[in-house]
Amino acid sequence: MKKQEELEKTLIDYGVAKVGFSCLEDLVPEGYQHLKSGITIAVRLSDQIIHEIDPIAGPTHMYFHHYRTVNAFIDQATLKIATLLQRWGYLAMPIAASQSINKDGWNYKGLFPHRTGATRSGLGWIGKNCCLITEDFGPRVRLGTVLTNMAFEYGTPIDESKCGECSRCVDACPATALKGNTWRAGIDRSELLNPQACSQHMHKQYQHIGRGSVCGICVKSCPRGKEVLLR
Ligand code: SF4
Ligand code: SF4
Repeated sequence: MKKQEELEKTLIDYGVAKVGFSCLEDLVPEGYQHLKSGITIAVRLSDQIIHEIDPIAGPTHMYFHHYRTVNAFIDQATLKIATLLQRWGYLAMPIAASQSINKDGWNYKGLFPHRTGATRSGLGWIGKNCCLITEDFGPRVRLGTVLTNMAFEYGTPIDESKCGECSRCVDACPATALKGNTWRAGIDRSELLNPQACSQHMHKQYQHIGRGSVCGICVKSCPRGKEVLLR
């Protein structure tokens, strides 16, 4: 078995729903140009738990716990990949599943955007809700990334949105934080989302659940994910 296939099989056996490979040479942060390959993993969320998010009342305690559990699982999975790659003699850096670095006011971002790696590897597009939308599970996934100097057969990048005329997530957002613009590769996040409005709404309205750190209404409202529950 080729090393790339072995890696993919290890991750699927571990419980990851999707694995993608991309060339990120032009996107990796300053100082990491030698780690030009990205491995993106998508872990599927519980349809039942997403289903229970209420468009008015907002997230549930169960969703907050699930969100944290999935993030911890992603960190374990990306650590597992990095360990395997290093055993094979490569450099590998797992990116934290959910870690915001605040450099410019409200512009909270991780070291590397998982969603960008995911679109580059062909796992999906960015919806008007600013989430990765996969064909199979809609936005009901969470993502992780490993940067490495191992070369792969890369996936075909997705450059355009398939949201079309839909704007259900935009209409459902109680903070009017989603701007309704259609994603295309290279677009700045600020054209899709007002992160300050999103964060302030969560903080104010859902303080009793994880101190206002989750919402999920724009995930629940996406029709792409709802089809999964019906199956
Ligand atoms: S997480 Fe909630 S507040 Fe933030 S954009 Fe989505 S629906 Fe709006
Ligand atoms: S609800 Fe509609 S517009 Fe929003 S991400 Fe899903 S498909 Fe796109």
